[in-house]
Amino acid sequence: MNEEREKLLISPEIKREESEEDAVLNISLRPLRLSEFVGQQDVLNSLKISLSAASQRKEPLEHVLLSGPPGLGKTSLAHIIAHEMSSKITATSGPAIERAGDLIGILTNLEKGDILFIDEIHRLSKVVEEFLYPAMENFQIDFVIDKGPYAKTIKFNLKPFTLVGATTRSGLLTAPLRGRFGIFHHLDFYSPEDLSTIIKHSAKKLDIKIDDDASLEIARRSRGTPRIANRLLRRIRDYAQVKLAKKIDLGTAAAALDNLRIDKAGLDEIDRKVLKVILETYAGGPVGVESLAATLNEEADTLIDTVEPFLLKAGFLKRTSRGRLATELAYNHFGIKYNKEKQEQLFEK
Ligand code: ADP
Repeated sequence: MNEEREKLLISPEIKREESEEDAVLNISLRPLRLSEFVGQQDVLNSLKISLSAASQRKEPLEHVLLSGPPGLGKTSLAHIIAHEMSSKITATSGPAIERAGDLIGILTNLEKGDILFIDEIHRLSKVVEEFLYPAMENFQIDFVIDKGPYAKTIKFNLKPFTLVGATTRSGLLTAPLRGRFGIFHHLDFYSPEDLSTIIKHSAKKLDIKIDDDASLEIARRSRGTPRIANRLLRRIRDYAQVKLAKKIDLGTAAAALDNLRIDKAGLDEIDRKVLKVILETYAGGPVGVESLAATLNEEADTLIDTVEPFLLKAGFLKRTSRGRLATELAYNHFGIKYNKEKQEQLFEK
């Protein structure tokens, strides 16, 4: 395999991020109300209480921070919060707000009770972030006019709003920013049962029939992630259509998933490639994420955000102080002999 091809295979921008077509379709599959949001029961229960309490007091909701791997429903929840509070939502992202001026423009346009959604909030620049502090705390922004000894700060009052921030890496948020949120929720990977319910709802919206065992099979192979489940469902729908199948049954789903090179454990090519490098190039690890990224010709952040969380959760990888270590499950998955004694010594370190 030449290097160009290798890059294409691993690059999550290509494989994991939504294409424009996916993004449009995803909007139509996006849950719009709390009652349509499947799973994450603890988060929903607690959010419902916060929403009712704020409505009863006729006050905006406190600022909300949502964290968790990509595709688990953070953006959907932000839209649902706006819907449930009958308020308008303005959506942007950390990297999109380049200068403090951009943020001032957004903030001064917010009406009372509006939701401001900032995706990837950990990627806000320092200057912009500092502008956000008084806005979050007292609904004020400080303009500085003139320079040097004549500099004057003028306060500008904003209408009370709710900031909903989303992040894949809550650990990267600065303490002052984190401290200004009142409500925190972490979204975790979904169970196959919850994903199967999501797949069945989506199949209905896409007007395709699917058997229960087929949706459960897709669910098991979706890396615990609704966005991936919906994407696989659309690809399987194409497959069923071309094969002239009237509905998606277990056989069609399994054949289509094999065709998409999603294996029985739900690992895709990127997952397998990462695990194989750890097992073969680094003798099972431990290997630091930077070296791993360099070998794979990838960004360390990409591995940390989109590949690792599921491999850790599914038990293929373990994090140690000296780096990432492949588990017995990973060895077995690739039919490589596991040296229990040697590996256990490494785990202890
Ligand atoms: P994130 O912002 O965490 O990356 P999104 O909110 O964009 O994730 O979710 C991606 C897609 O997955 C949504 O468009 C929606 O179709 C689906 N989805 C996510 N969470 C749920 C859920 N709990 N119930 C139903 N569908 C969901």
